[in-house]
Amino acid sequence: MKRVYPNQVVPADAAARKLFNGDDLGLTFYTHPPNAEVSVRQFEDFTASRLKLLHAIDRACNSQELRLEAMKEIRPKLAREFRDSGLELGYPETPGKTQSFRIDKLDFQGRDNISHFALRLAFCKNRDAREWFLRQEQRLFVLRFEALSPEARETFVESVGLECTRFQDGDYEMISLKKLQATTPGARIWVEGSRVPQYELNFYVMPFREVPERLISGRRVVLHRGKAFVPASLLKLVITRRFKESLSAALDVAFQGQHVAMIDPRVGGFLRVLQEHGMELVAPRSSSEELSEKLSLGNFEQLLSRSFPPCMRRLVEKQRETKKHLKHAGRLQLRPFLKACGFTFEDSCSWWRKELCRDPTLTSEKFEKSYLYDVEHAYGKKGHLQGQNCCGCPAIIASPGEAAGQVHGCFFKQLEPSALQQQLQRWQVPIATMLEIQRLIKEGKHYQLACIEYFKSQHPSSDGEGVGNSPMDFLRTSCRYHKAQKATSPKDLAEPQAIEG
Ligand code: SF4
Repeated sequence: MKRVYPNQVVPADAAARKLFNGDDLGLTFYTHPPNAEVSVRQFEDFTASRLKLLHAIDRACNSQELRLEAMKEIRPKLAREFRDSGLELGYPETPGKTQSFRIDKLDFQGRDNISHFALRLAFCKNRDAREWFLRQEQRLFVLRFEALSPEARETFVESVGLECTRFQDGDYEMISLKKLQATTPGARIWVEGSRVPQYELNFYVMPFREVPERLISGRRVVLHRGKAFVPASLLKLVITRRFKESLSAALDVAFQGQHVAMIDPRVGGFLRVLQEHGMELVAPRSSSEELSEKLSLGNFEQLLSRSFPPCMRRLVEKQRETKKHLKHAGRLQLRPFLKACGFTFEDSCSWWRKELCRDPTLTSEKFEKSYLYDVEHAYGKKGHLQGQNCCGCPAIIASPGEAAGQVHGCFFKQLEPSALQQQLQRWQVPIATMLEIQRLIKEGKHYQLACIEYFKSQHPSSDGEGVGNSPMDFLRTSCRYHKAQKATSPKDLAEPQAIEG
């Protein structure tokens, strides 16, 4: 199969369009760092756009829920994000457009490469960030691979060195296309409106070691004498595994060299901000925006019921209710949140001592010995001295399920429907909102949208914009709302509250 490169002459007739149909649309394993000149402003714009797109993909996939195989379900939902980020390239549809395709592709490749390599540097530093970045880049890769024509997919697979040939009926003595169709579970395709399945016509033959283990253990491919016969619909999983391995190794390399980029006066500051806040959404209302009310020991109870996101409120209330101290994952989730809300180191020490010691098995001495270190670590006084940052919603939603005695994760994901209903009733959430929340979770696991509905019910006439990105955004939006309410209330203007931050 012939590949088309940007420096080839661009014909403008139908034959040319057919020729472009085999183009790889800039799909790459990112093996070569960019070597182009861009302004600092462009560098930042490209990178922020990619980060926004990756967050949009993560949200559309409900963090960890959607499998790579089902990515095409979310593609229509992401049309706007792809367009806005400039990280999408399609085949030219008309002869007129074939003329500009070459320029569009060069522009796309520059933007794509620069933004990918910048995010590599920002996300290579710690395990959570790395895993998040790897997952989103794999998803983006699958979406792009699926957008290629069958011809371009084969060319791409060949270009990355995967030993893979298209199966031809008659090439193998004991294996025929009919047999493969009948014995491969993934070879049956249900076309909308049809009651009978159609069969995959294309299979690829490759050494079995190239195939992800789960496809083999799930008997999704046929194995014969060391060869795997993979239906065309699963080819993306094979190539994506390669992509993941390649990117994972590249992140190790990025980690070795990231300090050089971080001290670069032109981009170092921006990359450091991404390292700190990259897991949260780069939204117009940046997460570095000052809180209009800071959390203190004096206003804790008021903010807990009024402005805490449900995931954090539940941790505090559950610990009090059960008189059992939060286990590691719960403390890890809550500690940096309280810090980000405004608790000073002294506030945190005193709050954690008091709350953990509600558990009769914990004494003040035990707190000093076993738990104080974690608080010091969160404030950068111990360990790597960099402190801890509050995670965004995608990371919290992606956290593992709760084992017995544990409390952590996203409120809307962790609770069973009946427990969720009881808790919402206790928090006096109106029935209509409760039903809407249940529907959003049941029909699409839309935890972040459920959180917005909850927010709107507690903040009448608010649209909940910004909620669902991170717990801090929830608190920030709530505090801003209450500040605005106070400002328009004549009574409060006359009698300022003591807790004003
Ligand atoms: S969506 Fe985010 S803020 Fe809301 S409960 Fe879940 S993790 Fe917390």
